Order: sequence, then C-alpha cells, then structure tokens
Amino acid sequence: MELKLFVIDIWRSLGWRALVLILLTLLVAITEGLTIAALLPLLAILGLGDGTADGIVVNLSSVALGSLGLPFTVGSVGFLLGVLIAISALLFLAQARLATRLQARYVAHWQSLLAKALVGARWSHLRGLPRGAFLSAITVEAPRMGAAFDKVNLAATSIMFILTQSIIALVVAPLGTIILLLLAGTLFVSTRVLSSRAKEDGRALARTNASLAGRIGEIANALKLVKATASESGALHRMQAGFADIERASARSSYDVQVARAVFQYGGGGAIVLLLVFGPLLGYSDIGSTLIVVALFVRLFPKITGLRQSLQSISVMLPSFEACRSIEESARLASEQTSQINYWTAPQSGKAAALALRNAKVALPNGTILLEGISLDIEPGSYVAFVGPSGAGKTTLIDLLMGLIEPSGGMLLVDGVPLDSTQLLAWRHRIGYLGQDPIAFTGTISENLSWVRHNIDRAQMRAALSAAAADDIRADLDASVGEGGSGLSGGERQRLALARALAGGPGLLVLDEATSALDAHAERRVVETLRALKGTVTILAVSHRLWSVKDADRVIVVDGGRVIQEGSYKTLAARPGWFRETLVHQDHDANRSVSEEQD
Ligand code: ADP
Repeated sequence: MELKLFVIDIWRSLGWRALVLILLTLLVAITEGLTIAALLPLLAILGLGDGTADGIVVNLSSVALGSLGLPFTVGSVGFLLGVLIAISALLFLAQARLATRLQARYVAHWQSLLAKALVGARWSHLRGLPRGAFLSAITVEAPRMGAAFDKVNLAATSIMFILTQSIIALVVAPLGTIILLLLAGTLFVSTRVLSSRAKEDGRALARTNASLAGRIGEIANALKLVKATASESGALHRMQAGFADIERASARSSYDVQVARAVFQYGGGGAIVLLLVFGPLLGYSDIGSTLIVVALFVRLFPKITGLRQSLQSISVMLPSFEACRSIEESARLASEQTSQINYWTAPQSGKAAALALRNAKVALPNGTILLEGISLDIEPGSYVAFVGPSGAGKTTLIDLLMGLIEPSGGMLLVDGVPLDSTQLLAWRHRIGYLGQDPIAFTGTISENLSWVRHNIDRAQMRAALSAAAADDIRADLDASVGEGGSGLSGGERQRLALARALAGGPGLLVLDEATSALDAHAERRVVETLRALKGTVTILAVSHRLWSVKDADRVIVVDGGRVIQEGSYKTLAARPGWFRETLVHQDHDANRSVSEEQD
C-alpha cells in the first residue's frame, strides 16, 4: 500500500520524465536481451547449434543482415553483435544519466516541500515539533527517499529485464525456460517473509534517526557546557547510545537483504547446473540453445536477486517516506491562512502600532487555560513591560499580541482593526523581534540586517545600527559574521539582532527576555537604546529583571494566566503585591552583590 503511494508520488512529482525513464529502461532491457539472443546465429555458424530450436532467431538475424546487404557470416554476425552492444551501452548511459538526475530532483523536491510546509506552519504547530524530527526529515529521511527512488528504478529495470529475457528464452528453449522460471518464482515467493521484517526494521531506523538527530543537535548546542563541566563522557555516551541503536537497526535490515540475495545466488547457480546436467534428458541435444538459455539465466538470476533485494531495501526505506509524508502533511494542514487584505502596506512603515486585546483567552486543545480575561490597550509608541513569575503566561501573552498564536476567545485589534486568523501573517511583517538567544546568521552584516525586510537600503541599515547602539559593528556592512555569529561577543550579537529588529522601521518591537543573557554593561546599553526609541515604535518587553524595565511607561504583572497588577514602575514599586516583593528581593540581592564586591 505504502509502496503504491510512493510510486504514485514519484510519478506525480516527476511527470513525463518518469515516462521517458521507463521507455529508456525498456529499450535497454530489449537491446541487452537481443544481444544475448544474437549469440545464437554466431553459435550456429560456429557449428554449436543444429539450427532447429533456434531457427526463429537465426532466421531473424539473417533477414536483418540481409536487409543491411550483409552476408550471414561470422564477421557480419559479429558486426551485428557489436552494433547491438554499442546501442545497449549508449542506452544504458542515457538511462543512468536520467535516473540519477531524477533521483536528485526527487530528493530536492521533497526537501523543499518539507521546508516549505515547516516554515509555513503556524507557530503553535512548530512549537510542539521536536527539533530532531525537523532536522532529520530534511537532512536524513528525504535523501533516504532518494535511495528508495533508486531502488524502485532498479526494481522496475529488473522487472523489464526479467520479462524481456524470459520471453527471448521462451522463444529459444521453452521447456527449460519454464522450469527455470518456476524455480525462480518459488525462490522469489519464499523470500517474501523477509520483506515484512524489513519494513519493521525500516520504521525502527527512521525513529532512531530522528531521535539521534535531536540528541546530536542538543549536544552541539551544549558544547560549552560539555567542555566546561568535563562532561564529555556523558555527552559521548548519549550519542553513542544512539549510534548503537542505528547500528542494530541497520545491521539487521542489511543482513536480511543479503539473506534474500544468497537464496537467489546459490539457488540460481544450482538451477543452472541442474539444467546443464539434466538438459539432455529434457530433450536438449542442441548445446547452442542450452548455452543461450544458460547465458540468459546467468544474467536473469542476478536480476531476480536484484528485484528481491530492491524490494527488500524499499521496504526498509519506505518508513522514511511515511515519516516525511506525515511531517509534511501535518505541517501543511497547520499552515497559516492569509488574506488578500493587508492593512499594513508600505505607507505604514515607520508608524508605531496601537494594540488592544478584548477579553482574550488562550487555551490548549486539551482545555488547559493559559490566559484568560485579558483586556489591554497599548498606545502607539508606548513602552510596555510584562513581568511575573516564570510560567505565568507572559510569553503566551506577547505571542498573542504578535499574532503568533490565535486567541481561543476574545479578540486582538491592531490600529483599531480587529484581526482574524487570515490577517495575522500580514501584521507580523510590521514586527521587530528580539529573543533571549541573540541570533546572527552566517553571512555579512548587511545580509543580517536585511534578513527580515529585504528591500532596505544601506542608509537604513546604518540608521538601524546606530539606533541599536551597534556603532562598533557599523563600520563595515560587508564584514562577515561566522556561523551562529561566531567572532562577535554576546553583547555585539544582541545589538546586531536589535539593529535587525529595527531595520526598516517596525511598528512594534518585541523583546522577549532579550537582555537576560547579557552582562550588566551590555544590558545597560540595550536599556538606554530602548529609552531613546520611546515614542518612535511601540515596545513590548518581557523581563524577569525588574530594574531593566524602569523606563517602561507601563508595567503589567501577569500571574496564573491573568493580569494581576498594572501601573507605572513607580506606582507598582510603592504598592504592596508581587511587584514590590520581587523588587525588594532583587534589590536586596543586587545590593548584597555590590557590597560583597566592595568587601
Ligand atoms: P512565562 O513566559 O510567563 O514563563 P509562558 O507563557 O511561556 O510563561 O507559559 C505559560 C504556561 O503555559 C507554562 O506553564 C507553559 O508550560 C504552558 N504552555 C505554553 N504554551 C504551551 C503549549 N503549546 N503546550 C503546552 N504548554 C504550554
């Protein structure tokens, strides 16, 4: 069933090219079969055949030679064979060239299909998607589908060879061929059991690949932790456990493939010996046709072996197709809807956005309520900070304001326009975002700055760098940034990320714990930058360090999915409640560390 879907998928994605491939394959099979059959007249001339059983082939070749004006001699039959071999070789090369190209094309098609579905999916879908599944689908499973494509092609080739060569063998020596074919069929059916086992192994392999990719990704991100804490052996052990799982799964499936091969190789060899020994008993006095049947079968058995082996390998690889299909399908079903109406086209750029929530609620599909009863009005150009204990719902609240998630109840309004799910994507074109991990992409400074808004010019880039107080990296827009921002300090990377967020004049700037990974000096620079930006862009910041939001026009305290306090920094600091208590603790800690430093 899955194989059928796979073949249909190949057919759909490659279209007429697949048809050309099939035709070429058929031509290769026919010419190769003819090449062997054309040995018959040669053998007849050399006196190895009696010219009865092989009459048709001999007659046909003499007619073919005659039409070319050539005599029926060793030389001209040899010439005919040479031409056939050359045609076979050329056809084979053309077929191989097309097949390899189509294989690469099929992989690329799936990789881009997956990438497109994944980046196009709603945040609520991506949030729950394991990173390993994302990584391994594109980098491991899609290429494995390419390998499966190759096996399908091989299987199709084998089938065509088996058919054409069996037909030729039937014409040359019907009885012997039927006996050998029956034997081959029995061997083929008897090795079927190995196929279902192979499928199970393949599924295990796909699962193991995904979890290994996840584990390796985690460790790659935690290399500093690993080195700093001398936990190399733990890290190595985690990875090695994954390697061992892969080793077991792949060794088993590869061995099963070899078992199928052995059955054919040795079974086939035995059958040919039997034919040679008992051939005369079956009435084969003609050594010529016996030799041809043997020659055809010597080539045919590896093809039958190859067919079984290909089917076996396809079974192992089909779970990759299942995995890619299910990841792609679920991501595609979770894709964002878009509307033709875009309220925030070019003239809006540089204009601070006004936001409002009316009795908004966010609940998970299982009914868990993350936010409830939230009503807020955020003035354009104001700076609003969200604070509260961890797990309170701050990130969920700003995700809601950014249009990353949809409210399950109530509504979001931007510049007075109530947004439905089709307008969220357009709204996000106006957002500058800065998360906890300062993200820098491999490439130049200018590529980093135009990542979000591609059409900005160099003057706008410089203005953004300047607004983000990233003057030290402003000097050369064409300077390169290494992978993940290597070569830049944490503070520099965060200021570059802030400049990217500001480039092109967003209506809303969101800072999600954006300074928590920075040192005090770097954090202060960002805080000063925000102060300078006030009034020009609406700013929403989530922070757990209360002093860093001192400049906010308004502080909103979230706890248990509700707004529990709201007011200016000063008002909240004076009022009893979570804010003042936390401020006292944090001040106390800060004072203590200052006095410890002085001691
Ligand atoms: P904060 O930012 O205040 O630390 P969050 O908004 O990240 O809090 O999360 C609020 C609560 O909701 C947390 O308990 C978090 O685990 C849970 N949560 C948020 N989104 C999801 C989700 N998609 N699936 C399950 N739990 C979620």
